[in-house]
Amino acid sequence: MLQDKPLIKKDVVIIGAGAAGLMCAIEAGKRGGSVLVLEHMNKIGNKIRVSGGGRCNFTNINLRPDHYLSANPHFCKSALARFTPGDFIGMIEKHGIAYHEKEEGRLFCRGTSGDIIRMLSQECLSSGVQTLLNCSVVGITKSDLFHISINSCGIEAGSLVIATGGLSYPDLGATDTGFRIAKQFGLKVTKMKPALVPLVFGQGDLKKFAELSGLSLDARVTCGRKQFTGKILFTHRGLSGPAILQASSYWDAGNEVAIDLMPGVDSCGLLISHRQSRIELANLLSQYLPRKFSHRWCELQAPSQPLCRYNEKQLRDIAYQIHHWTIRPAGTEGYKRAEITAGGIDTDELSSKTMEAKKVPGLFFAGEVIDVAGQLGGYNLQWAWSSGFVAGQYV
Ligand SMILES: Cc1cc2nc3c(=O)[nH]c(=O)nc-3n(C[C@H](O)[C@H](O)[C@H](O)COP(=O)(O)OP(=O)(O)OC[C@H]3O[C@@H](n4cnc5c(N)ncnc54)[C@H](O)[C@@H]3O)c2cc1C
Repeated sequence: MLQDKPLIKKDVVIIGAGAAGLMCAIEAGKRGGSVLVLEHMNKIGNKIRVSGGGRCNFTNINLRPDHYLSANPHFCKSALARFTPGDFIGMIEKHGIAYHEKEEGRLFCRGTSGDIIRMLSQECLSSGVQTLLNCSVVGITKSDLFHISINSCGIEAGSLVIATGGLSYPDLGATDTGFRIAKQFGLKVTKMKPALVPLVFGQGDLKKFAELSGLSLDARVTCGRKQFTGKILFTHRGLSGPAILQASSYWDAGNEVAIDLMPGVDSCGLLISHRQSRIELANLLSQYLPRKFSHRWCELQAPSQPLCRYNEKQLRDIAYQIHHWTIRPAGTEGYKRAEITAGGIDTDELSSKTMEAKKVPGLFFAGEVIDVAGQLGGYNLQWAWSSGFVAGQYV
């Protein structure tokens, strides 16, 4: 029981020592309040550590609000404008962290993600923030103040920030705690699904393409009205690679995914210009696609023979197939392999200026726990920095 345990008093308690929670803590600490971060794992920033393949794609200088998926596409705008990629870059430059730009505005550490975690730790220390690791939240109640019961003690706080992230990668600490707390306080949570996640073939396609596992090619992937160009990768269960991960955030069970296997190539013109040629179809396609893929594709779609043996209609049909390969995935690889969770705390429940719950004064949310999901490319960490920063100004 809460009353049997020692009682700590804090101005602000933050649950979750990830990107959003730590940024919020730093800002709240700078404003002079006493701040305590509760983390149930034995380290802070587990997802930061693995992000960007260990080099942390910490932001994107081409950021626009339409890089985010949310039931309310306007919600993210205010926070992203108040703490921008430039602001985060300023912070890492102040700490002397070397970084570089990769494709499409993505910024990565030159060293490792550990540089960012050390920076956040140092900033927390100089803002007087305390962090409690290996700490389980047992229960929360609210009167004037929040009463947070943890394994070892009770804590009273004027403001409570939920920065517990999404449901993906449970091994790194993901839990549904944030969503349960929201529901406890009568806040709506939107439908959630794994996003930025590999897609899984149905049985038929799995048999057809299993032998291509490990092979990648450049393609344009369309899901609903969204289109992404980039690598696709055949896995032993289905498809992955950046263009597939991007499309997966817009995919719902039962939908088709259309894949253009030779984007930007006029394959109809190419095939027709070789109409008199004795070159085999699979060999011609191998000049544009991985050899193993083009041979397998021909076995399945258009048995390979010299181009001169096809009539024009057949060549036009083959060209169409190349640009319109459609699959109906059986599912995704789920939260275990999803980079993020799409959906979350309904943005209608929150002020976009402060991240505070409209119905529950003093209760704030920040980061991926909110129904704002970024595309691949550093957008998710930037949302965590921006929403954490904003919440930190008002707690
Ligand atoms: C493999 C991988 C690679 C990624 N790479 C990138 C990338 O390069 N760029 C990018 O922008 N995004 C990337 N992301 C996404 C990005 O890491 C997240 O969107 C971002 O970290 C979310 O920050 P957050 O603070 O909201 O949540 P999190 O970072 O998930 O932090 C939540 C914290 O809350 C803690 N917690 C949960 N429940 C409790 C509880 N009950 N009590 C106490 N603590 C609790 C967790 O342990 C965790 O420390 C990647 C994600 C994954 C999984």
